[in-house]
Amino acid sequence: HDVWHSTPFAPPDAIFALTAGYQQDSFDKKVNLGVGAYRDNDGKPFVLPVVRKAKQILASDDSLDHEYLPIAGLPSFVKATSKLIFGADSPAIKENRVVTIQTISGTGANHYGGAFLSRFYEPWLGKSKEEKIIYLSNPTWANHKSIFNSTGLTAADYPYYDPKTIGLDLVAFLDFLRKAPKQSVFLLHACAHNPTGVDPTRDQWKEIAQIFKEKEHFAFFDCAYQGFASGDLDNDAWAVRHFVEEAIPLLVCQSFAKNAGLYGERIGALNIVASHAGDSEGGADRIRSQLLILQRQEISNPPTFGARIVGLILSDEAMFEQWKGDIKTMAHRIIDMRKQLHELLVNKYKTPAPGPNGWEHVINQIGMFTFTGLNPDQCKAMVERGHIYMTSNGRISMAGLNEHNVEWVAECIDKAIR
Ligand code: PMP
Repeated sequence: HDVWHSTPFAPPDAIFALTAGYQQDSFDKKVNLGVGAYRDNDGKPFVLPVVRKAKQILASDDSLDHEYLPIAGLPSFVKATSKLIFGADSPAIKENRVVTIQTISGTGANHYGGAFLSRFYEPWLGKSKEEKIIYLSNPTWANHKSIFNSTGLTAADYPYYDPKTIGLDLVAFLDFLRKAPKQSVFLLHACAHNPTGVDPTRDQWKEIAQIFKEKEHFAFFDCAYQGFASGDLDNDAWAVRHFVEEAIPLLVCQSFAKNAGLYGERIGALNIVASHAGDSEGGADRIRSQLLILQRQEISNPPTFGARIVGLILSDEAMFEQWKGDIKTMAHRIIDMRKQLHELLVNKYKTPAPGPNGWEHVINQIGMFTFTGLNPDQCKAMVERGHIYMTSNGRISMAGLNEHNVEWVAECIDKAIR
């Protein structure tokens, strides 16, 4: 008997399928704007200079062995990563209320976040999977829904993006927050919203936080792009820090894939903020003890290499400064590509814009991605006629643009729209 007889064929991952198409294409002006990984001005992967340096230091350190890490992760990394997101002066850190565990990059942090809520979020105790709803922005990172559905939660949408304005639908978002049952769980992108590049302003974040407070909602922050949005680590952590100051219950997922270029090292962290330190009910120590169980069940011990690199960069003052410079290099190249693409569409091609505000969204959006506003047919034309690989929702990775291909991309957008 064939025990796999009824295994159905799963659909291929859209992004990875796109990359495969790009690799098989022999056209000389082909461009890959699908994948969310940073590329330099020659379209090459970028190893941050500070990471090169950290690797050299690690390579010459004979005291390093290959023993298991503690279950919570490399202590120097774990300590430093929470300070990076919350700020060294954070009340939560000073009061020992932050519980941090090293994870398999941002994906692992999201996974643990979902699993932990499913087991221990007080308002959900005794509830069924269907009742454990995590609200995700519409749209969101394609993997979110699948991660949460696999950790015992049920993913549902909240309104976020308005295709008419190619911007934030704040009114609908706030309205939804007000009408949702008390103590609902909402996933928020801490900065550089994927896939839209549309972030709330600080004033808008304050309004959002106010309703979280009133309704006692739980904020599940996913922070995959700290530093990548504005080029400044503290700036990009502002929303998270504001929610902490407002004493809103929350957790934060961190990833060092983008901001340290450590995609393959799978280094990240999950931070849960407790209402108080210690081992009494609701205390940080109890939360930590349960996170350790979760880690043990899933991967036993986290991997070493990425943690050593990031741990070193975060704990050495000179290297930390160098890292900030490297982040600026990446963020500012992307901001520059936004300006160039905008300039070409507006002044050279005079391309009719898909929204009411011209092509402003190309420069106003933040982070690695731009939601162009192109419809699925136009996106198809980009791929089939321009050999420009992008997803059918109109998202392009700005990191795939450079001075050699931006003209061609602008020309193809113009042709696809006319
Ligand atoms: N969250 C968001 C919003 C992302 O865009 C990504 C990366 N595409 C991740 C989490 C996780 O990435 P990684 O597991 O590589 O850190």
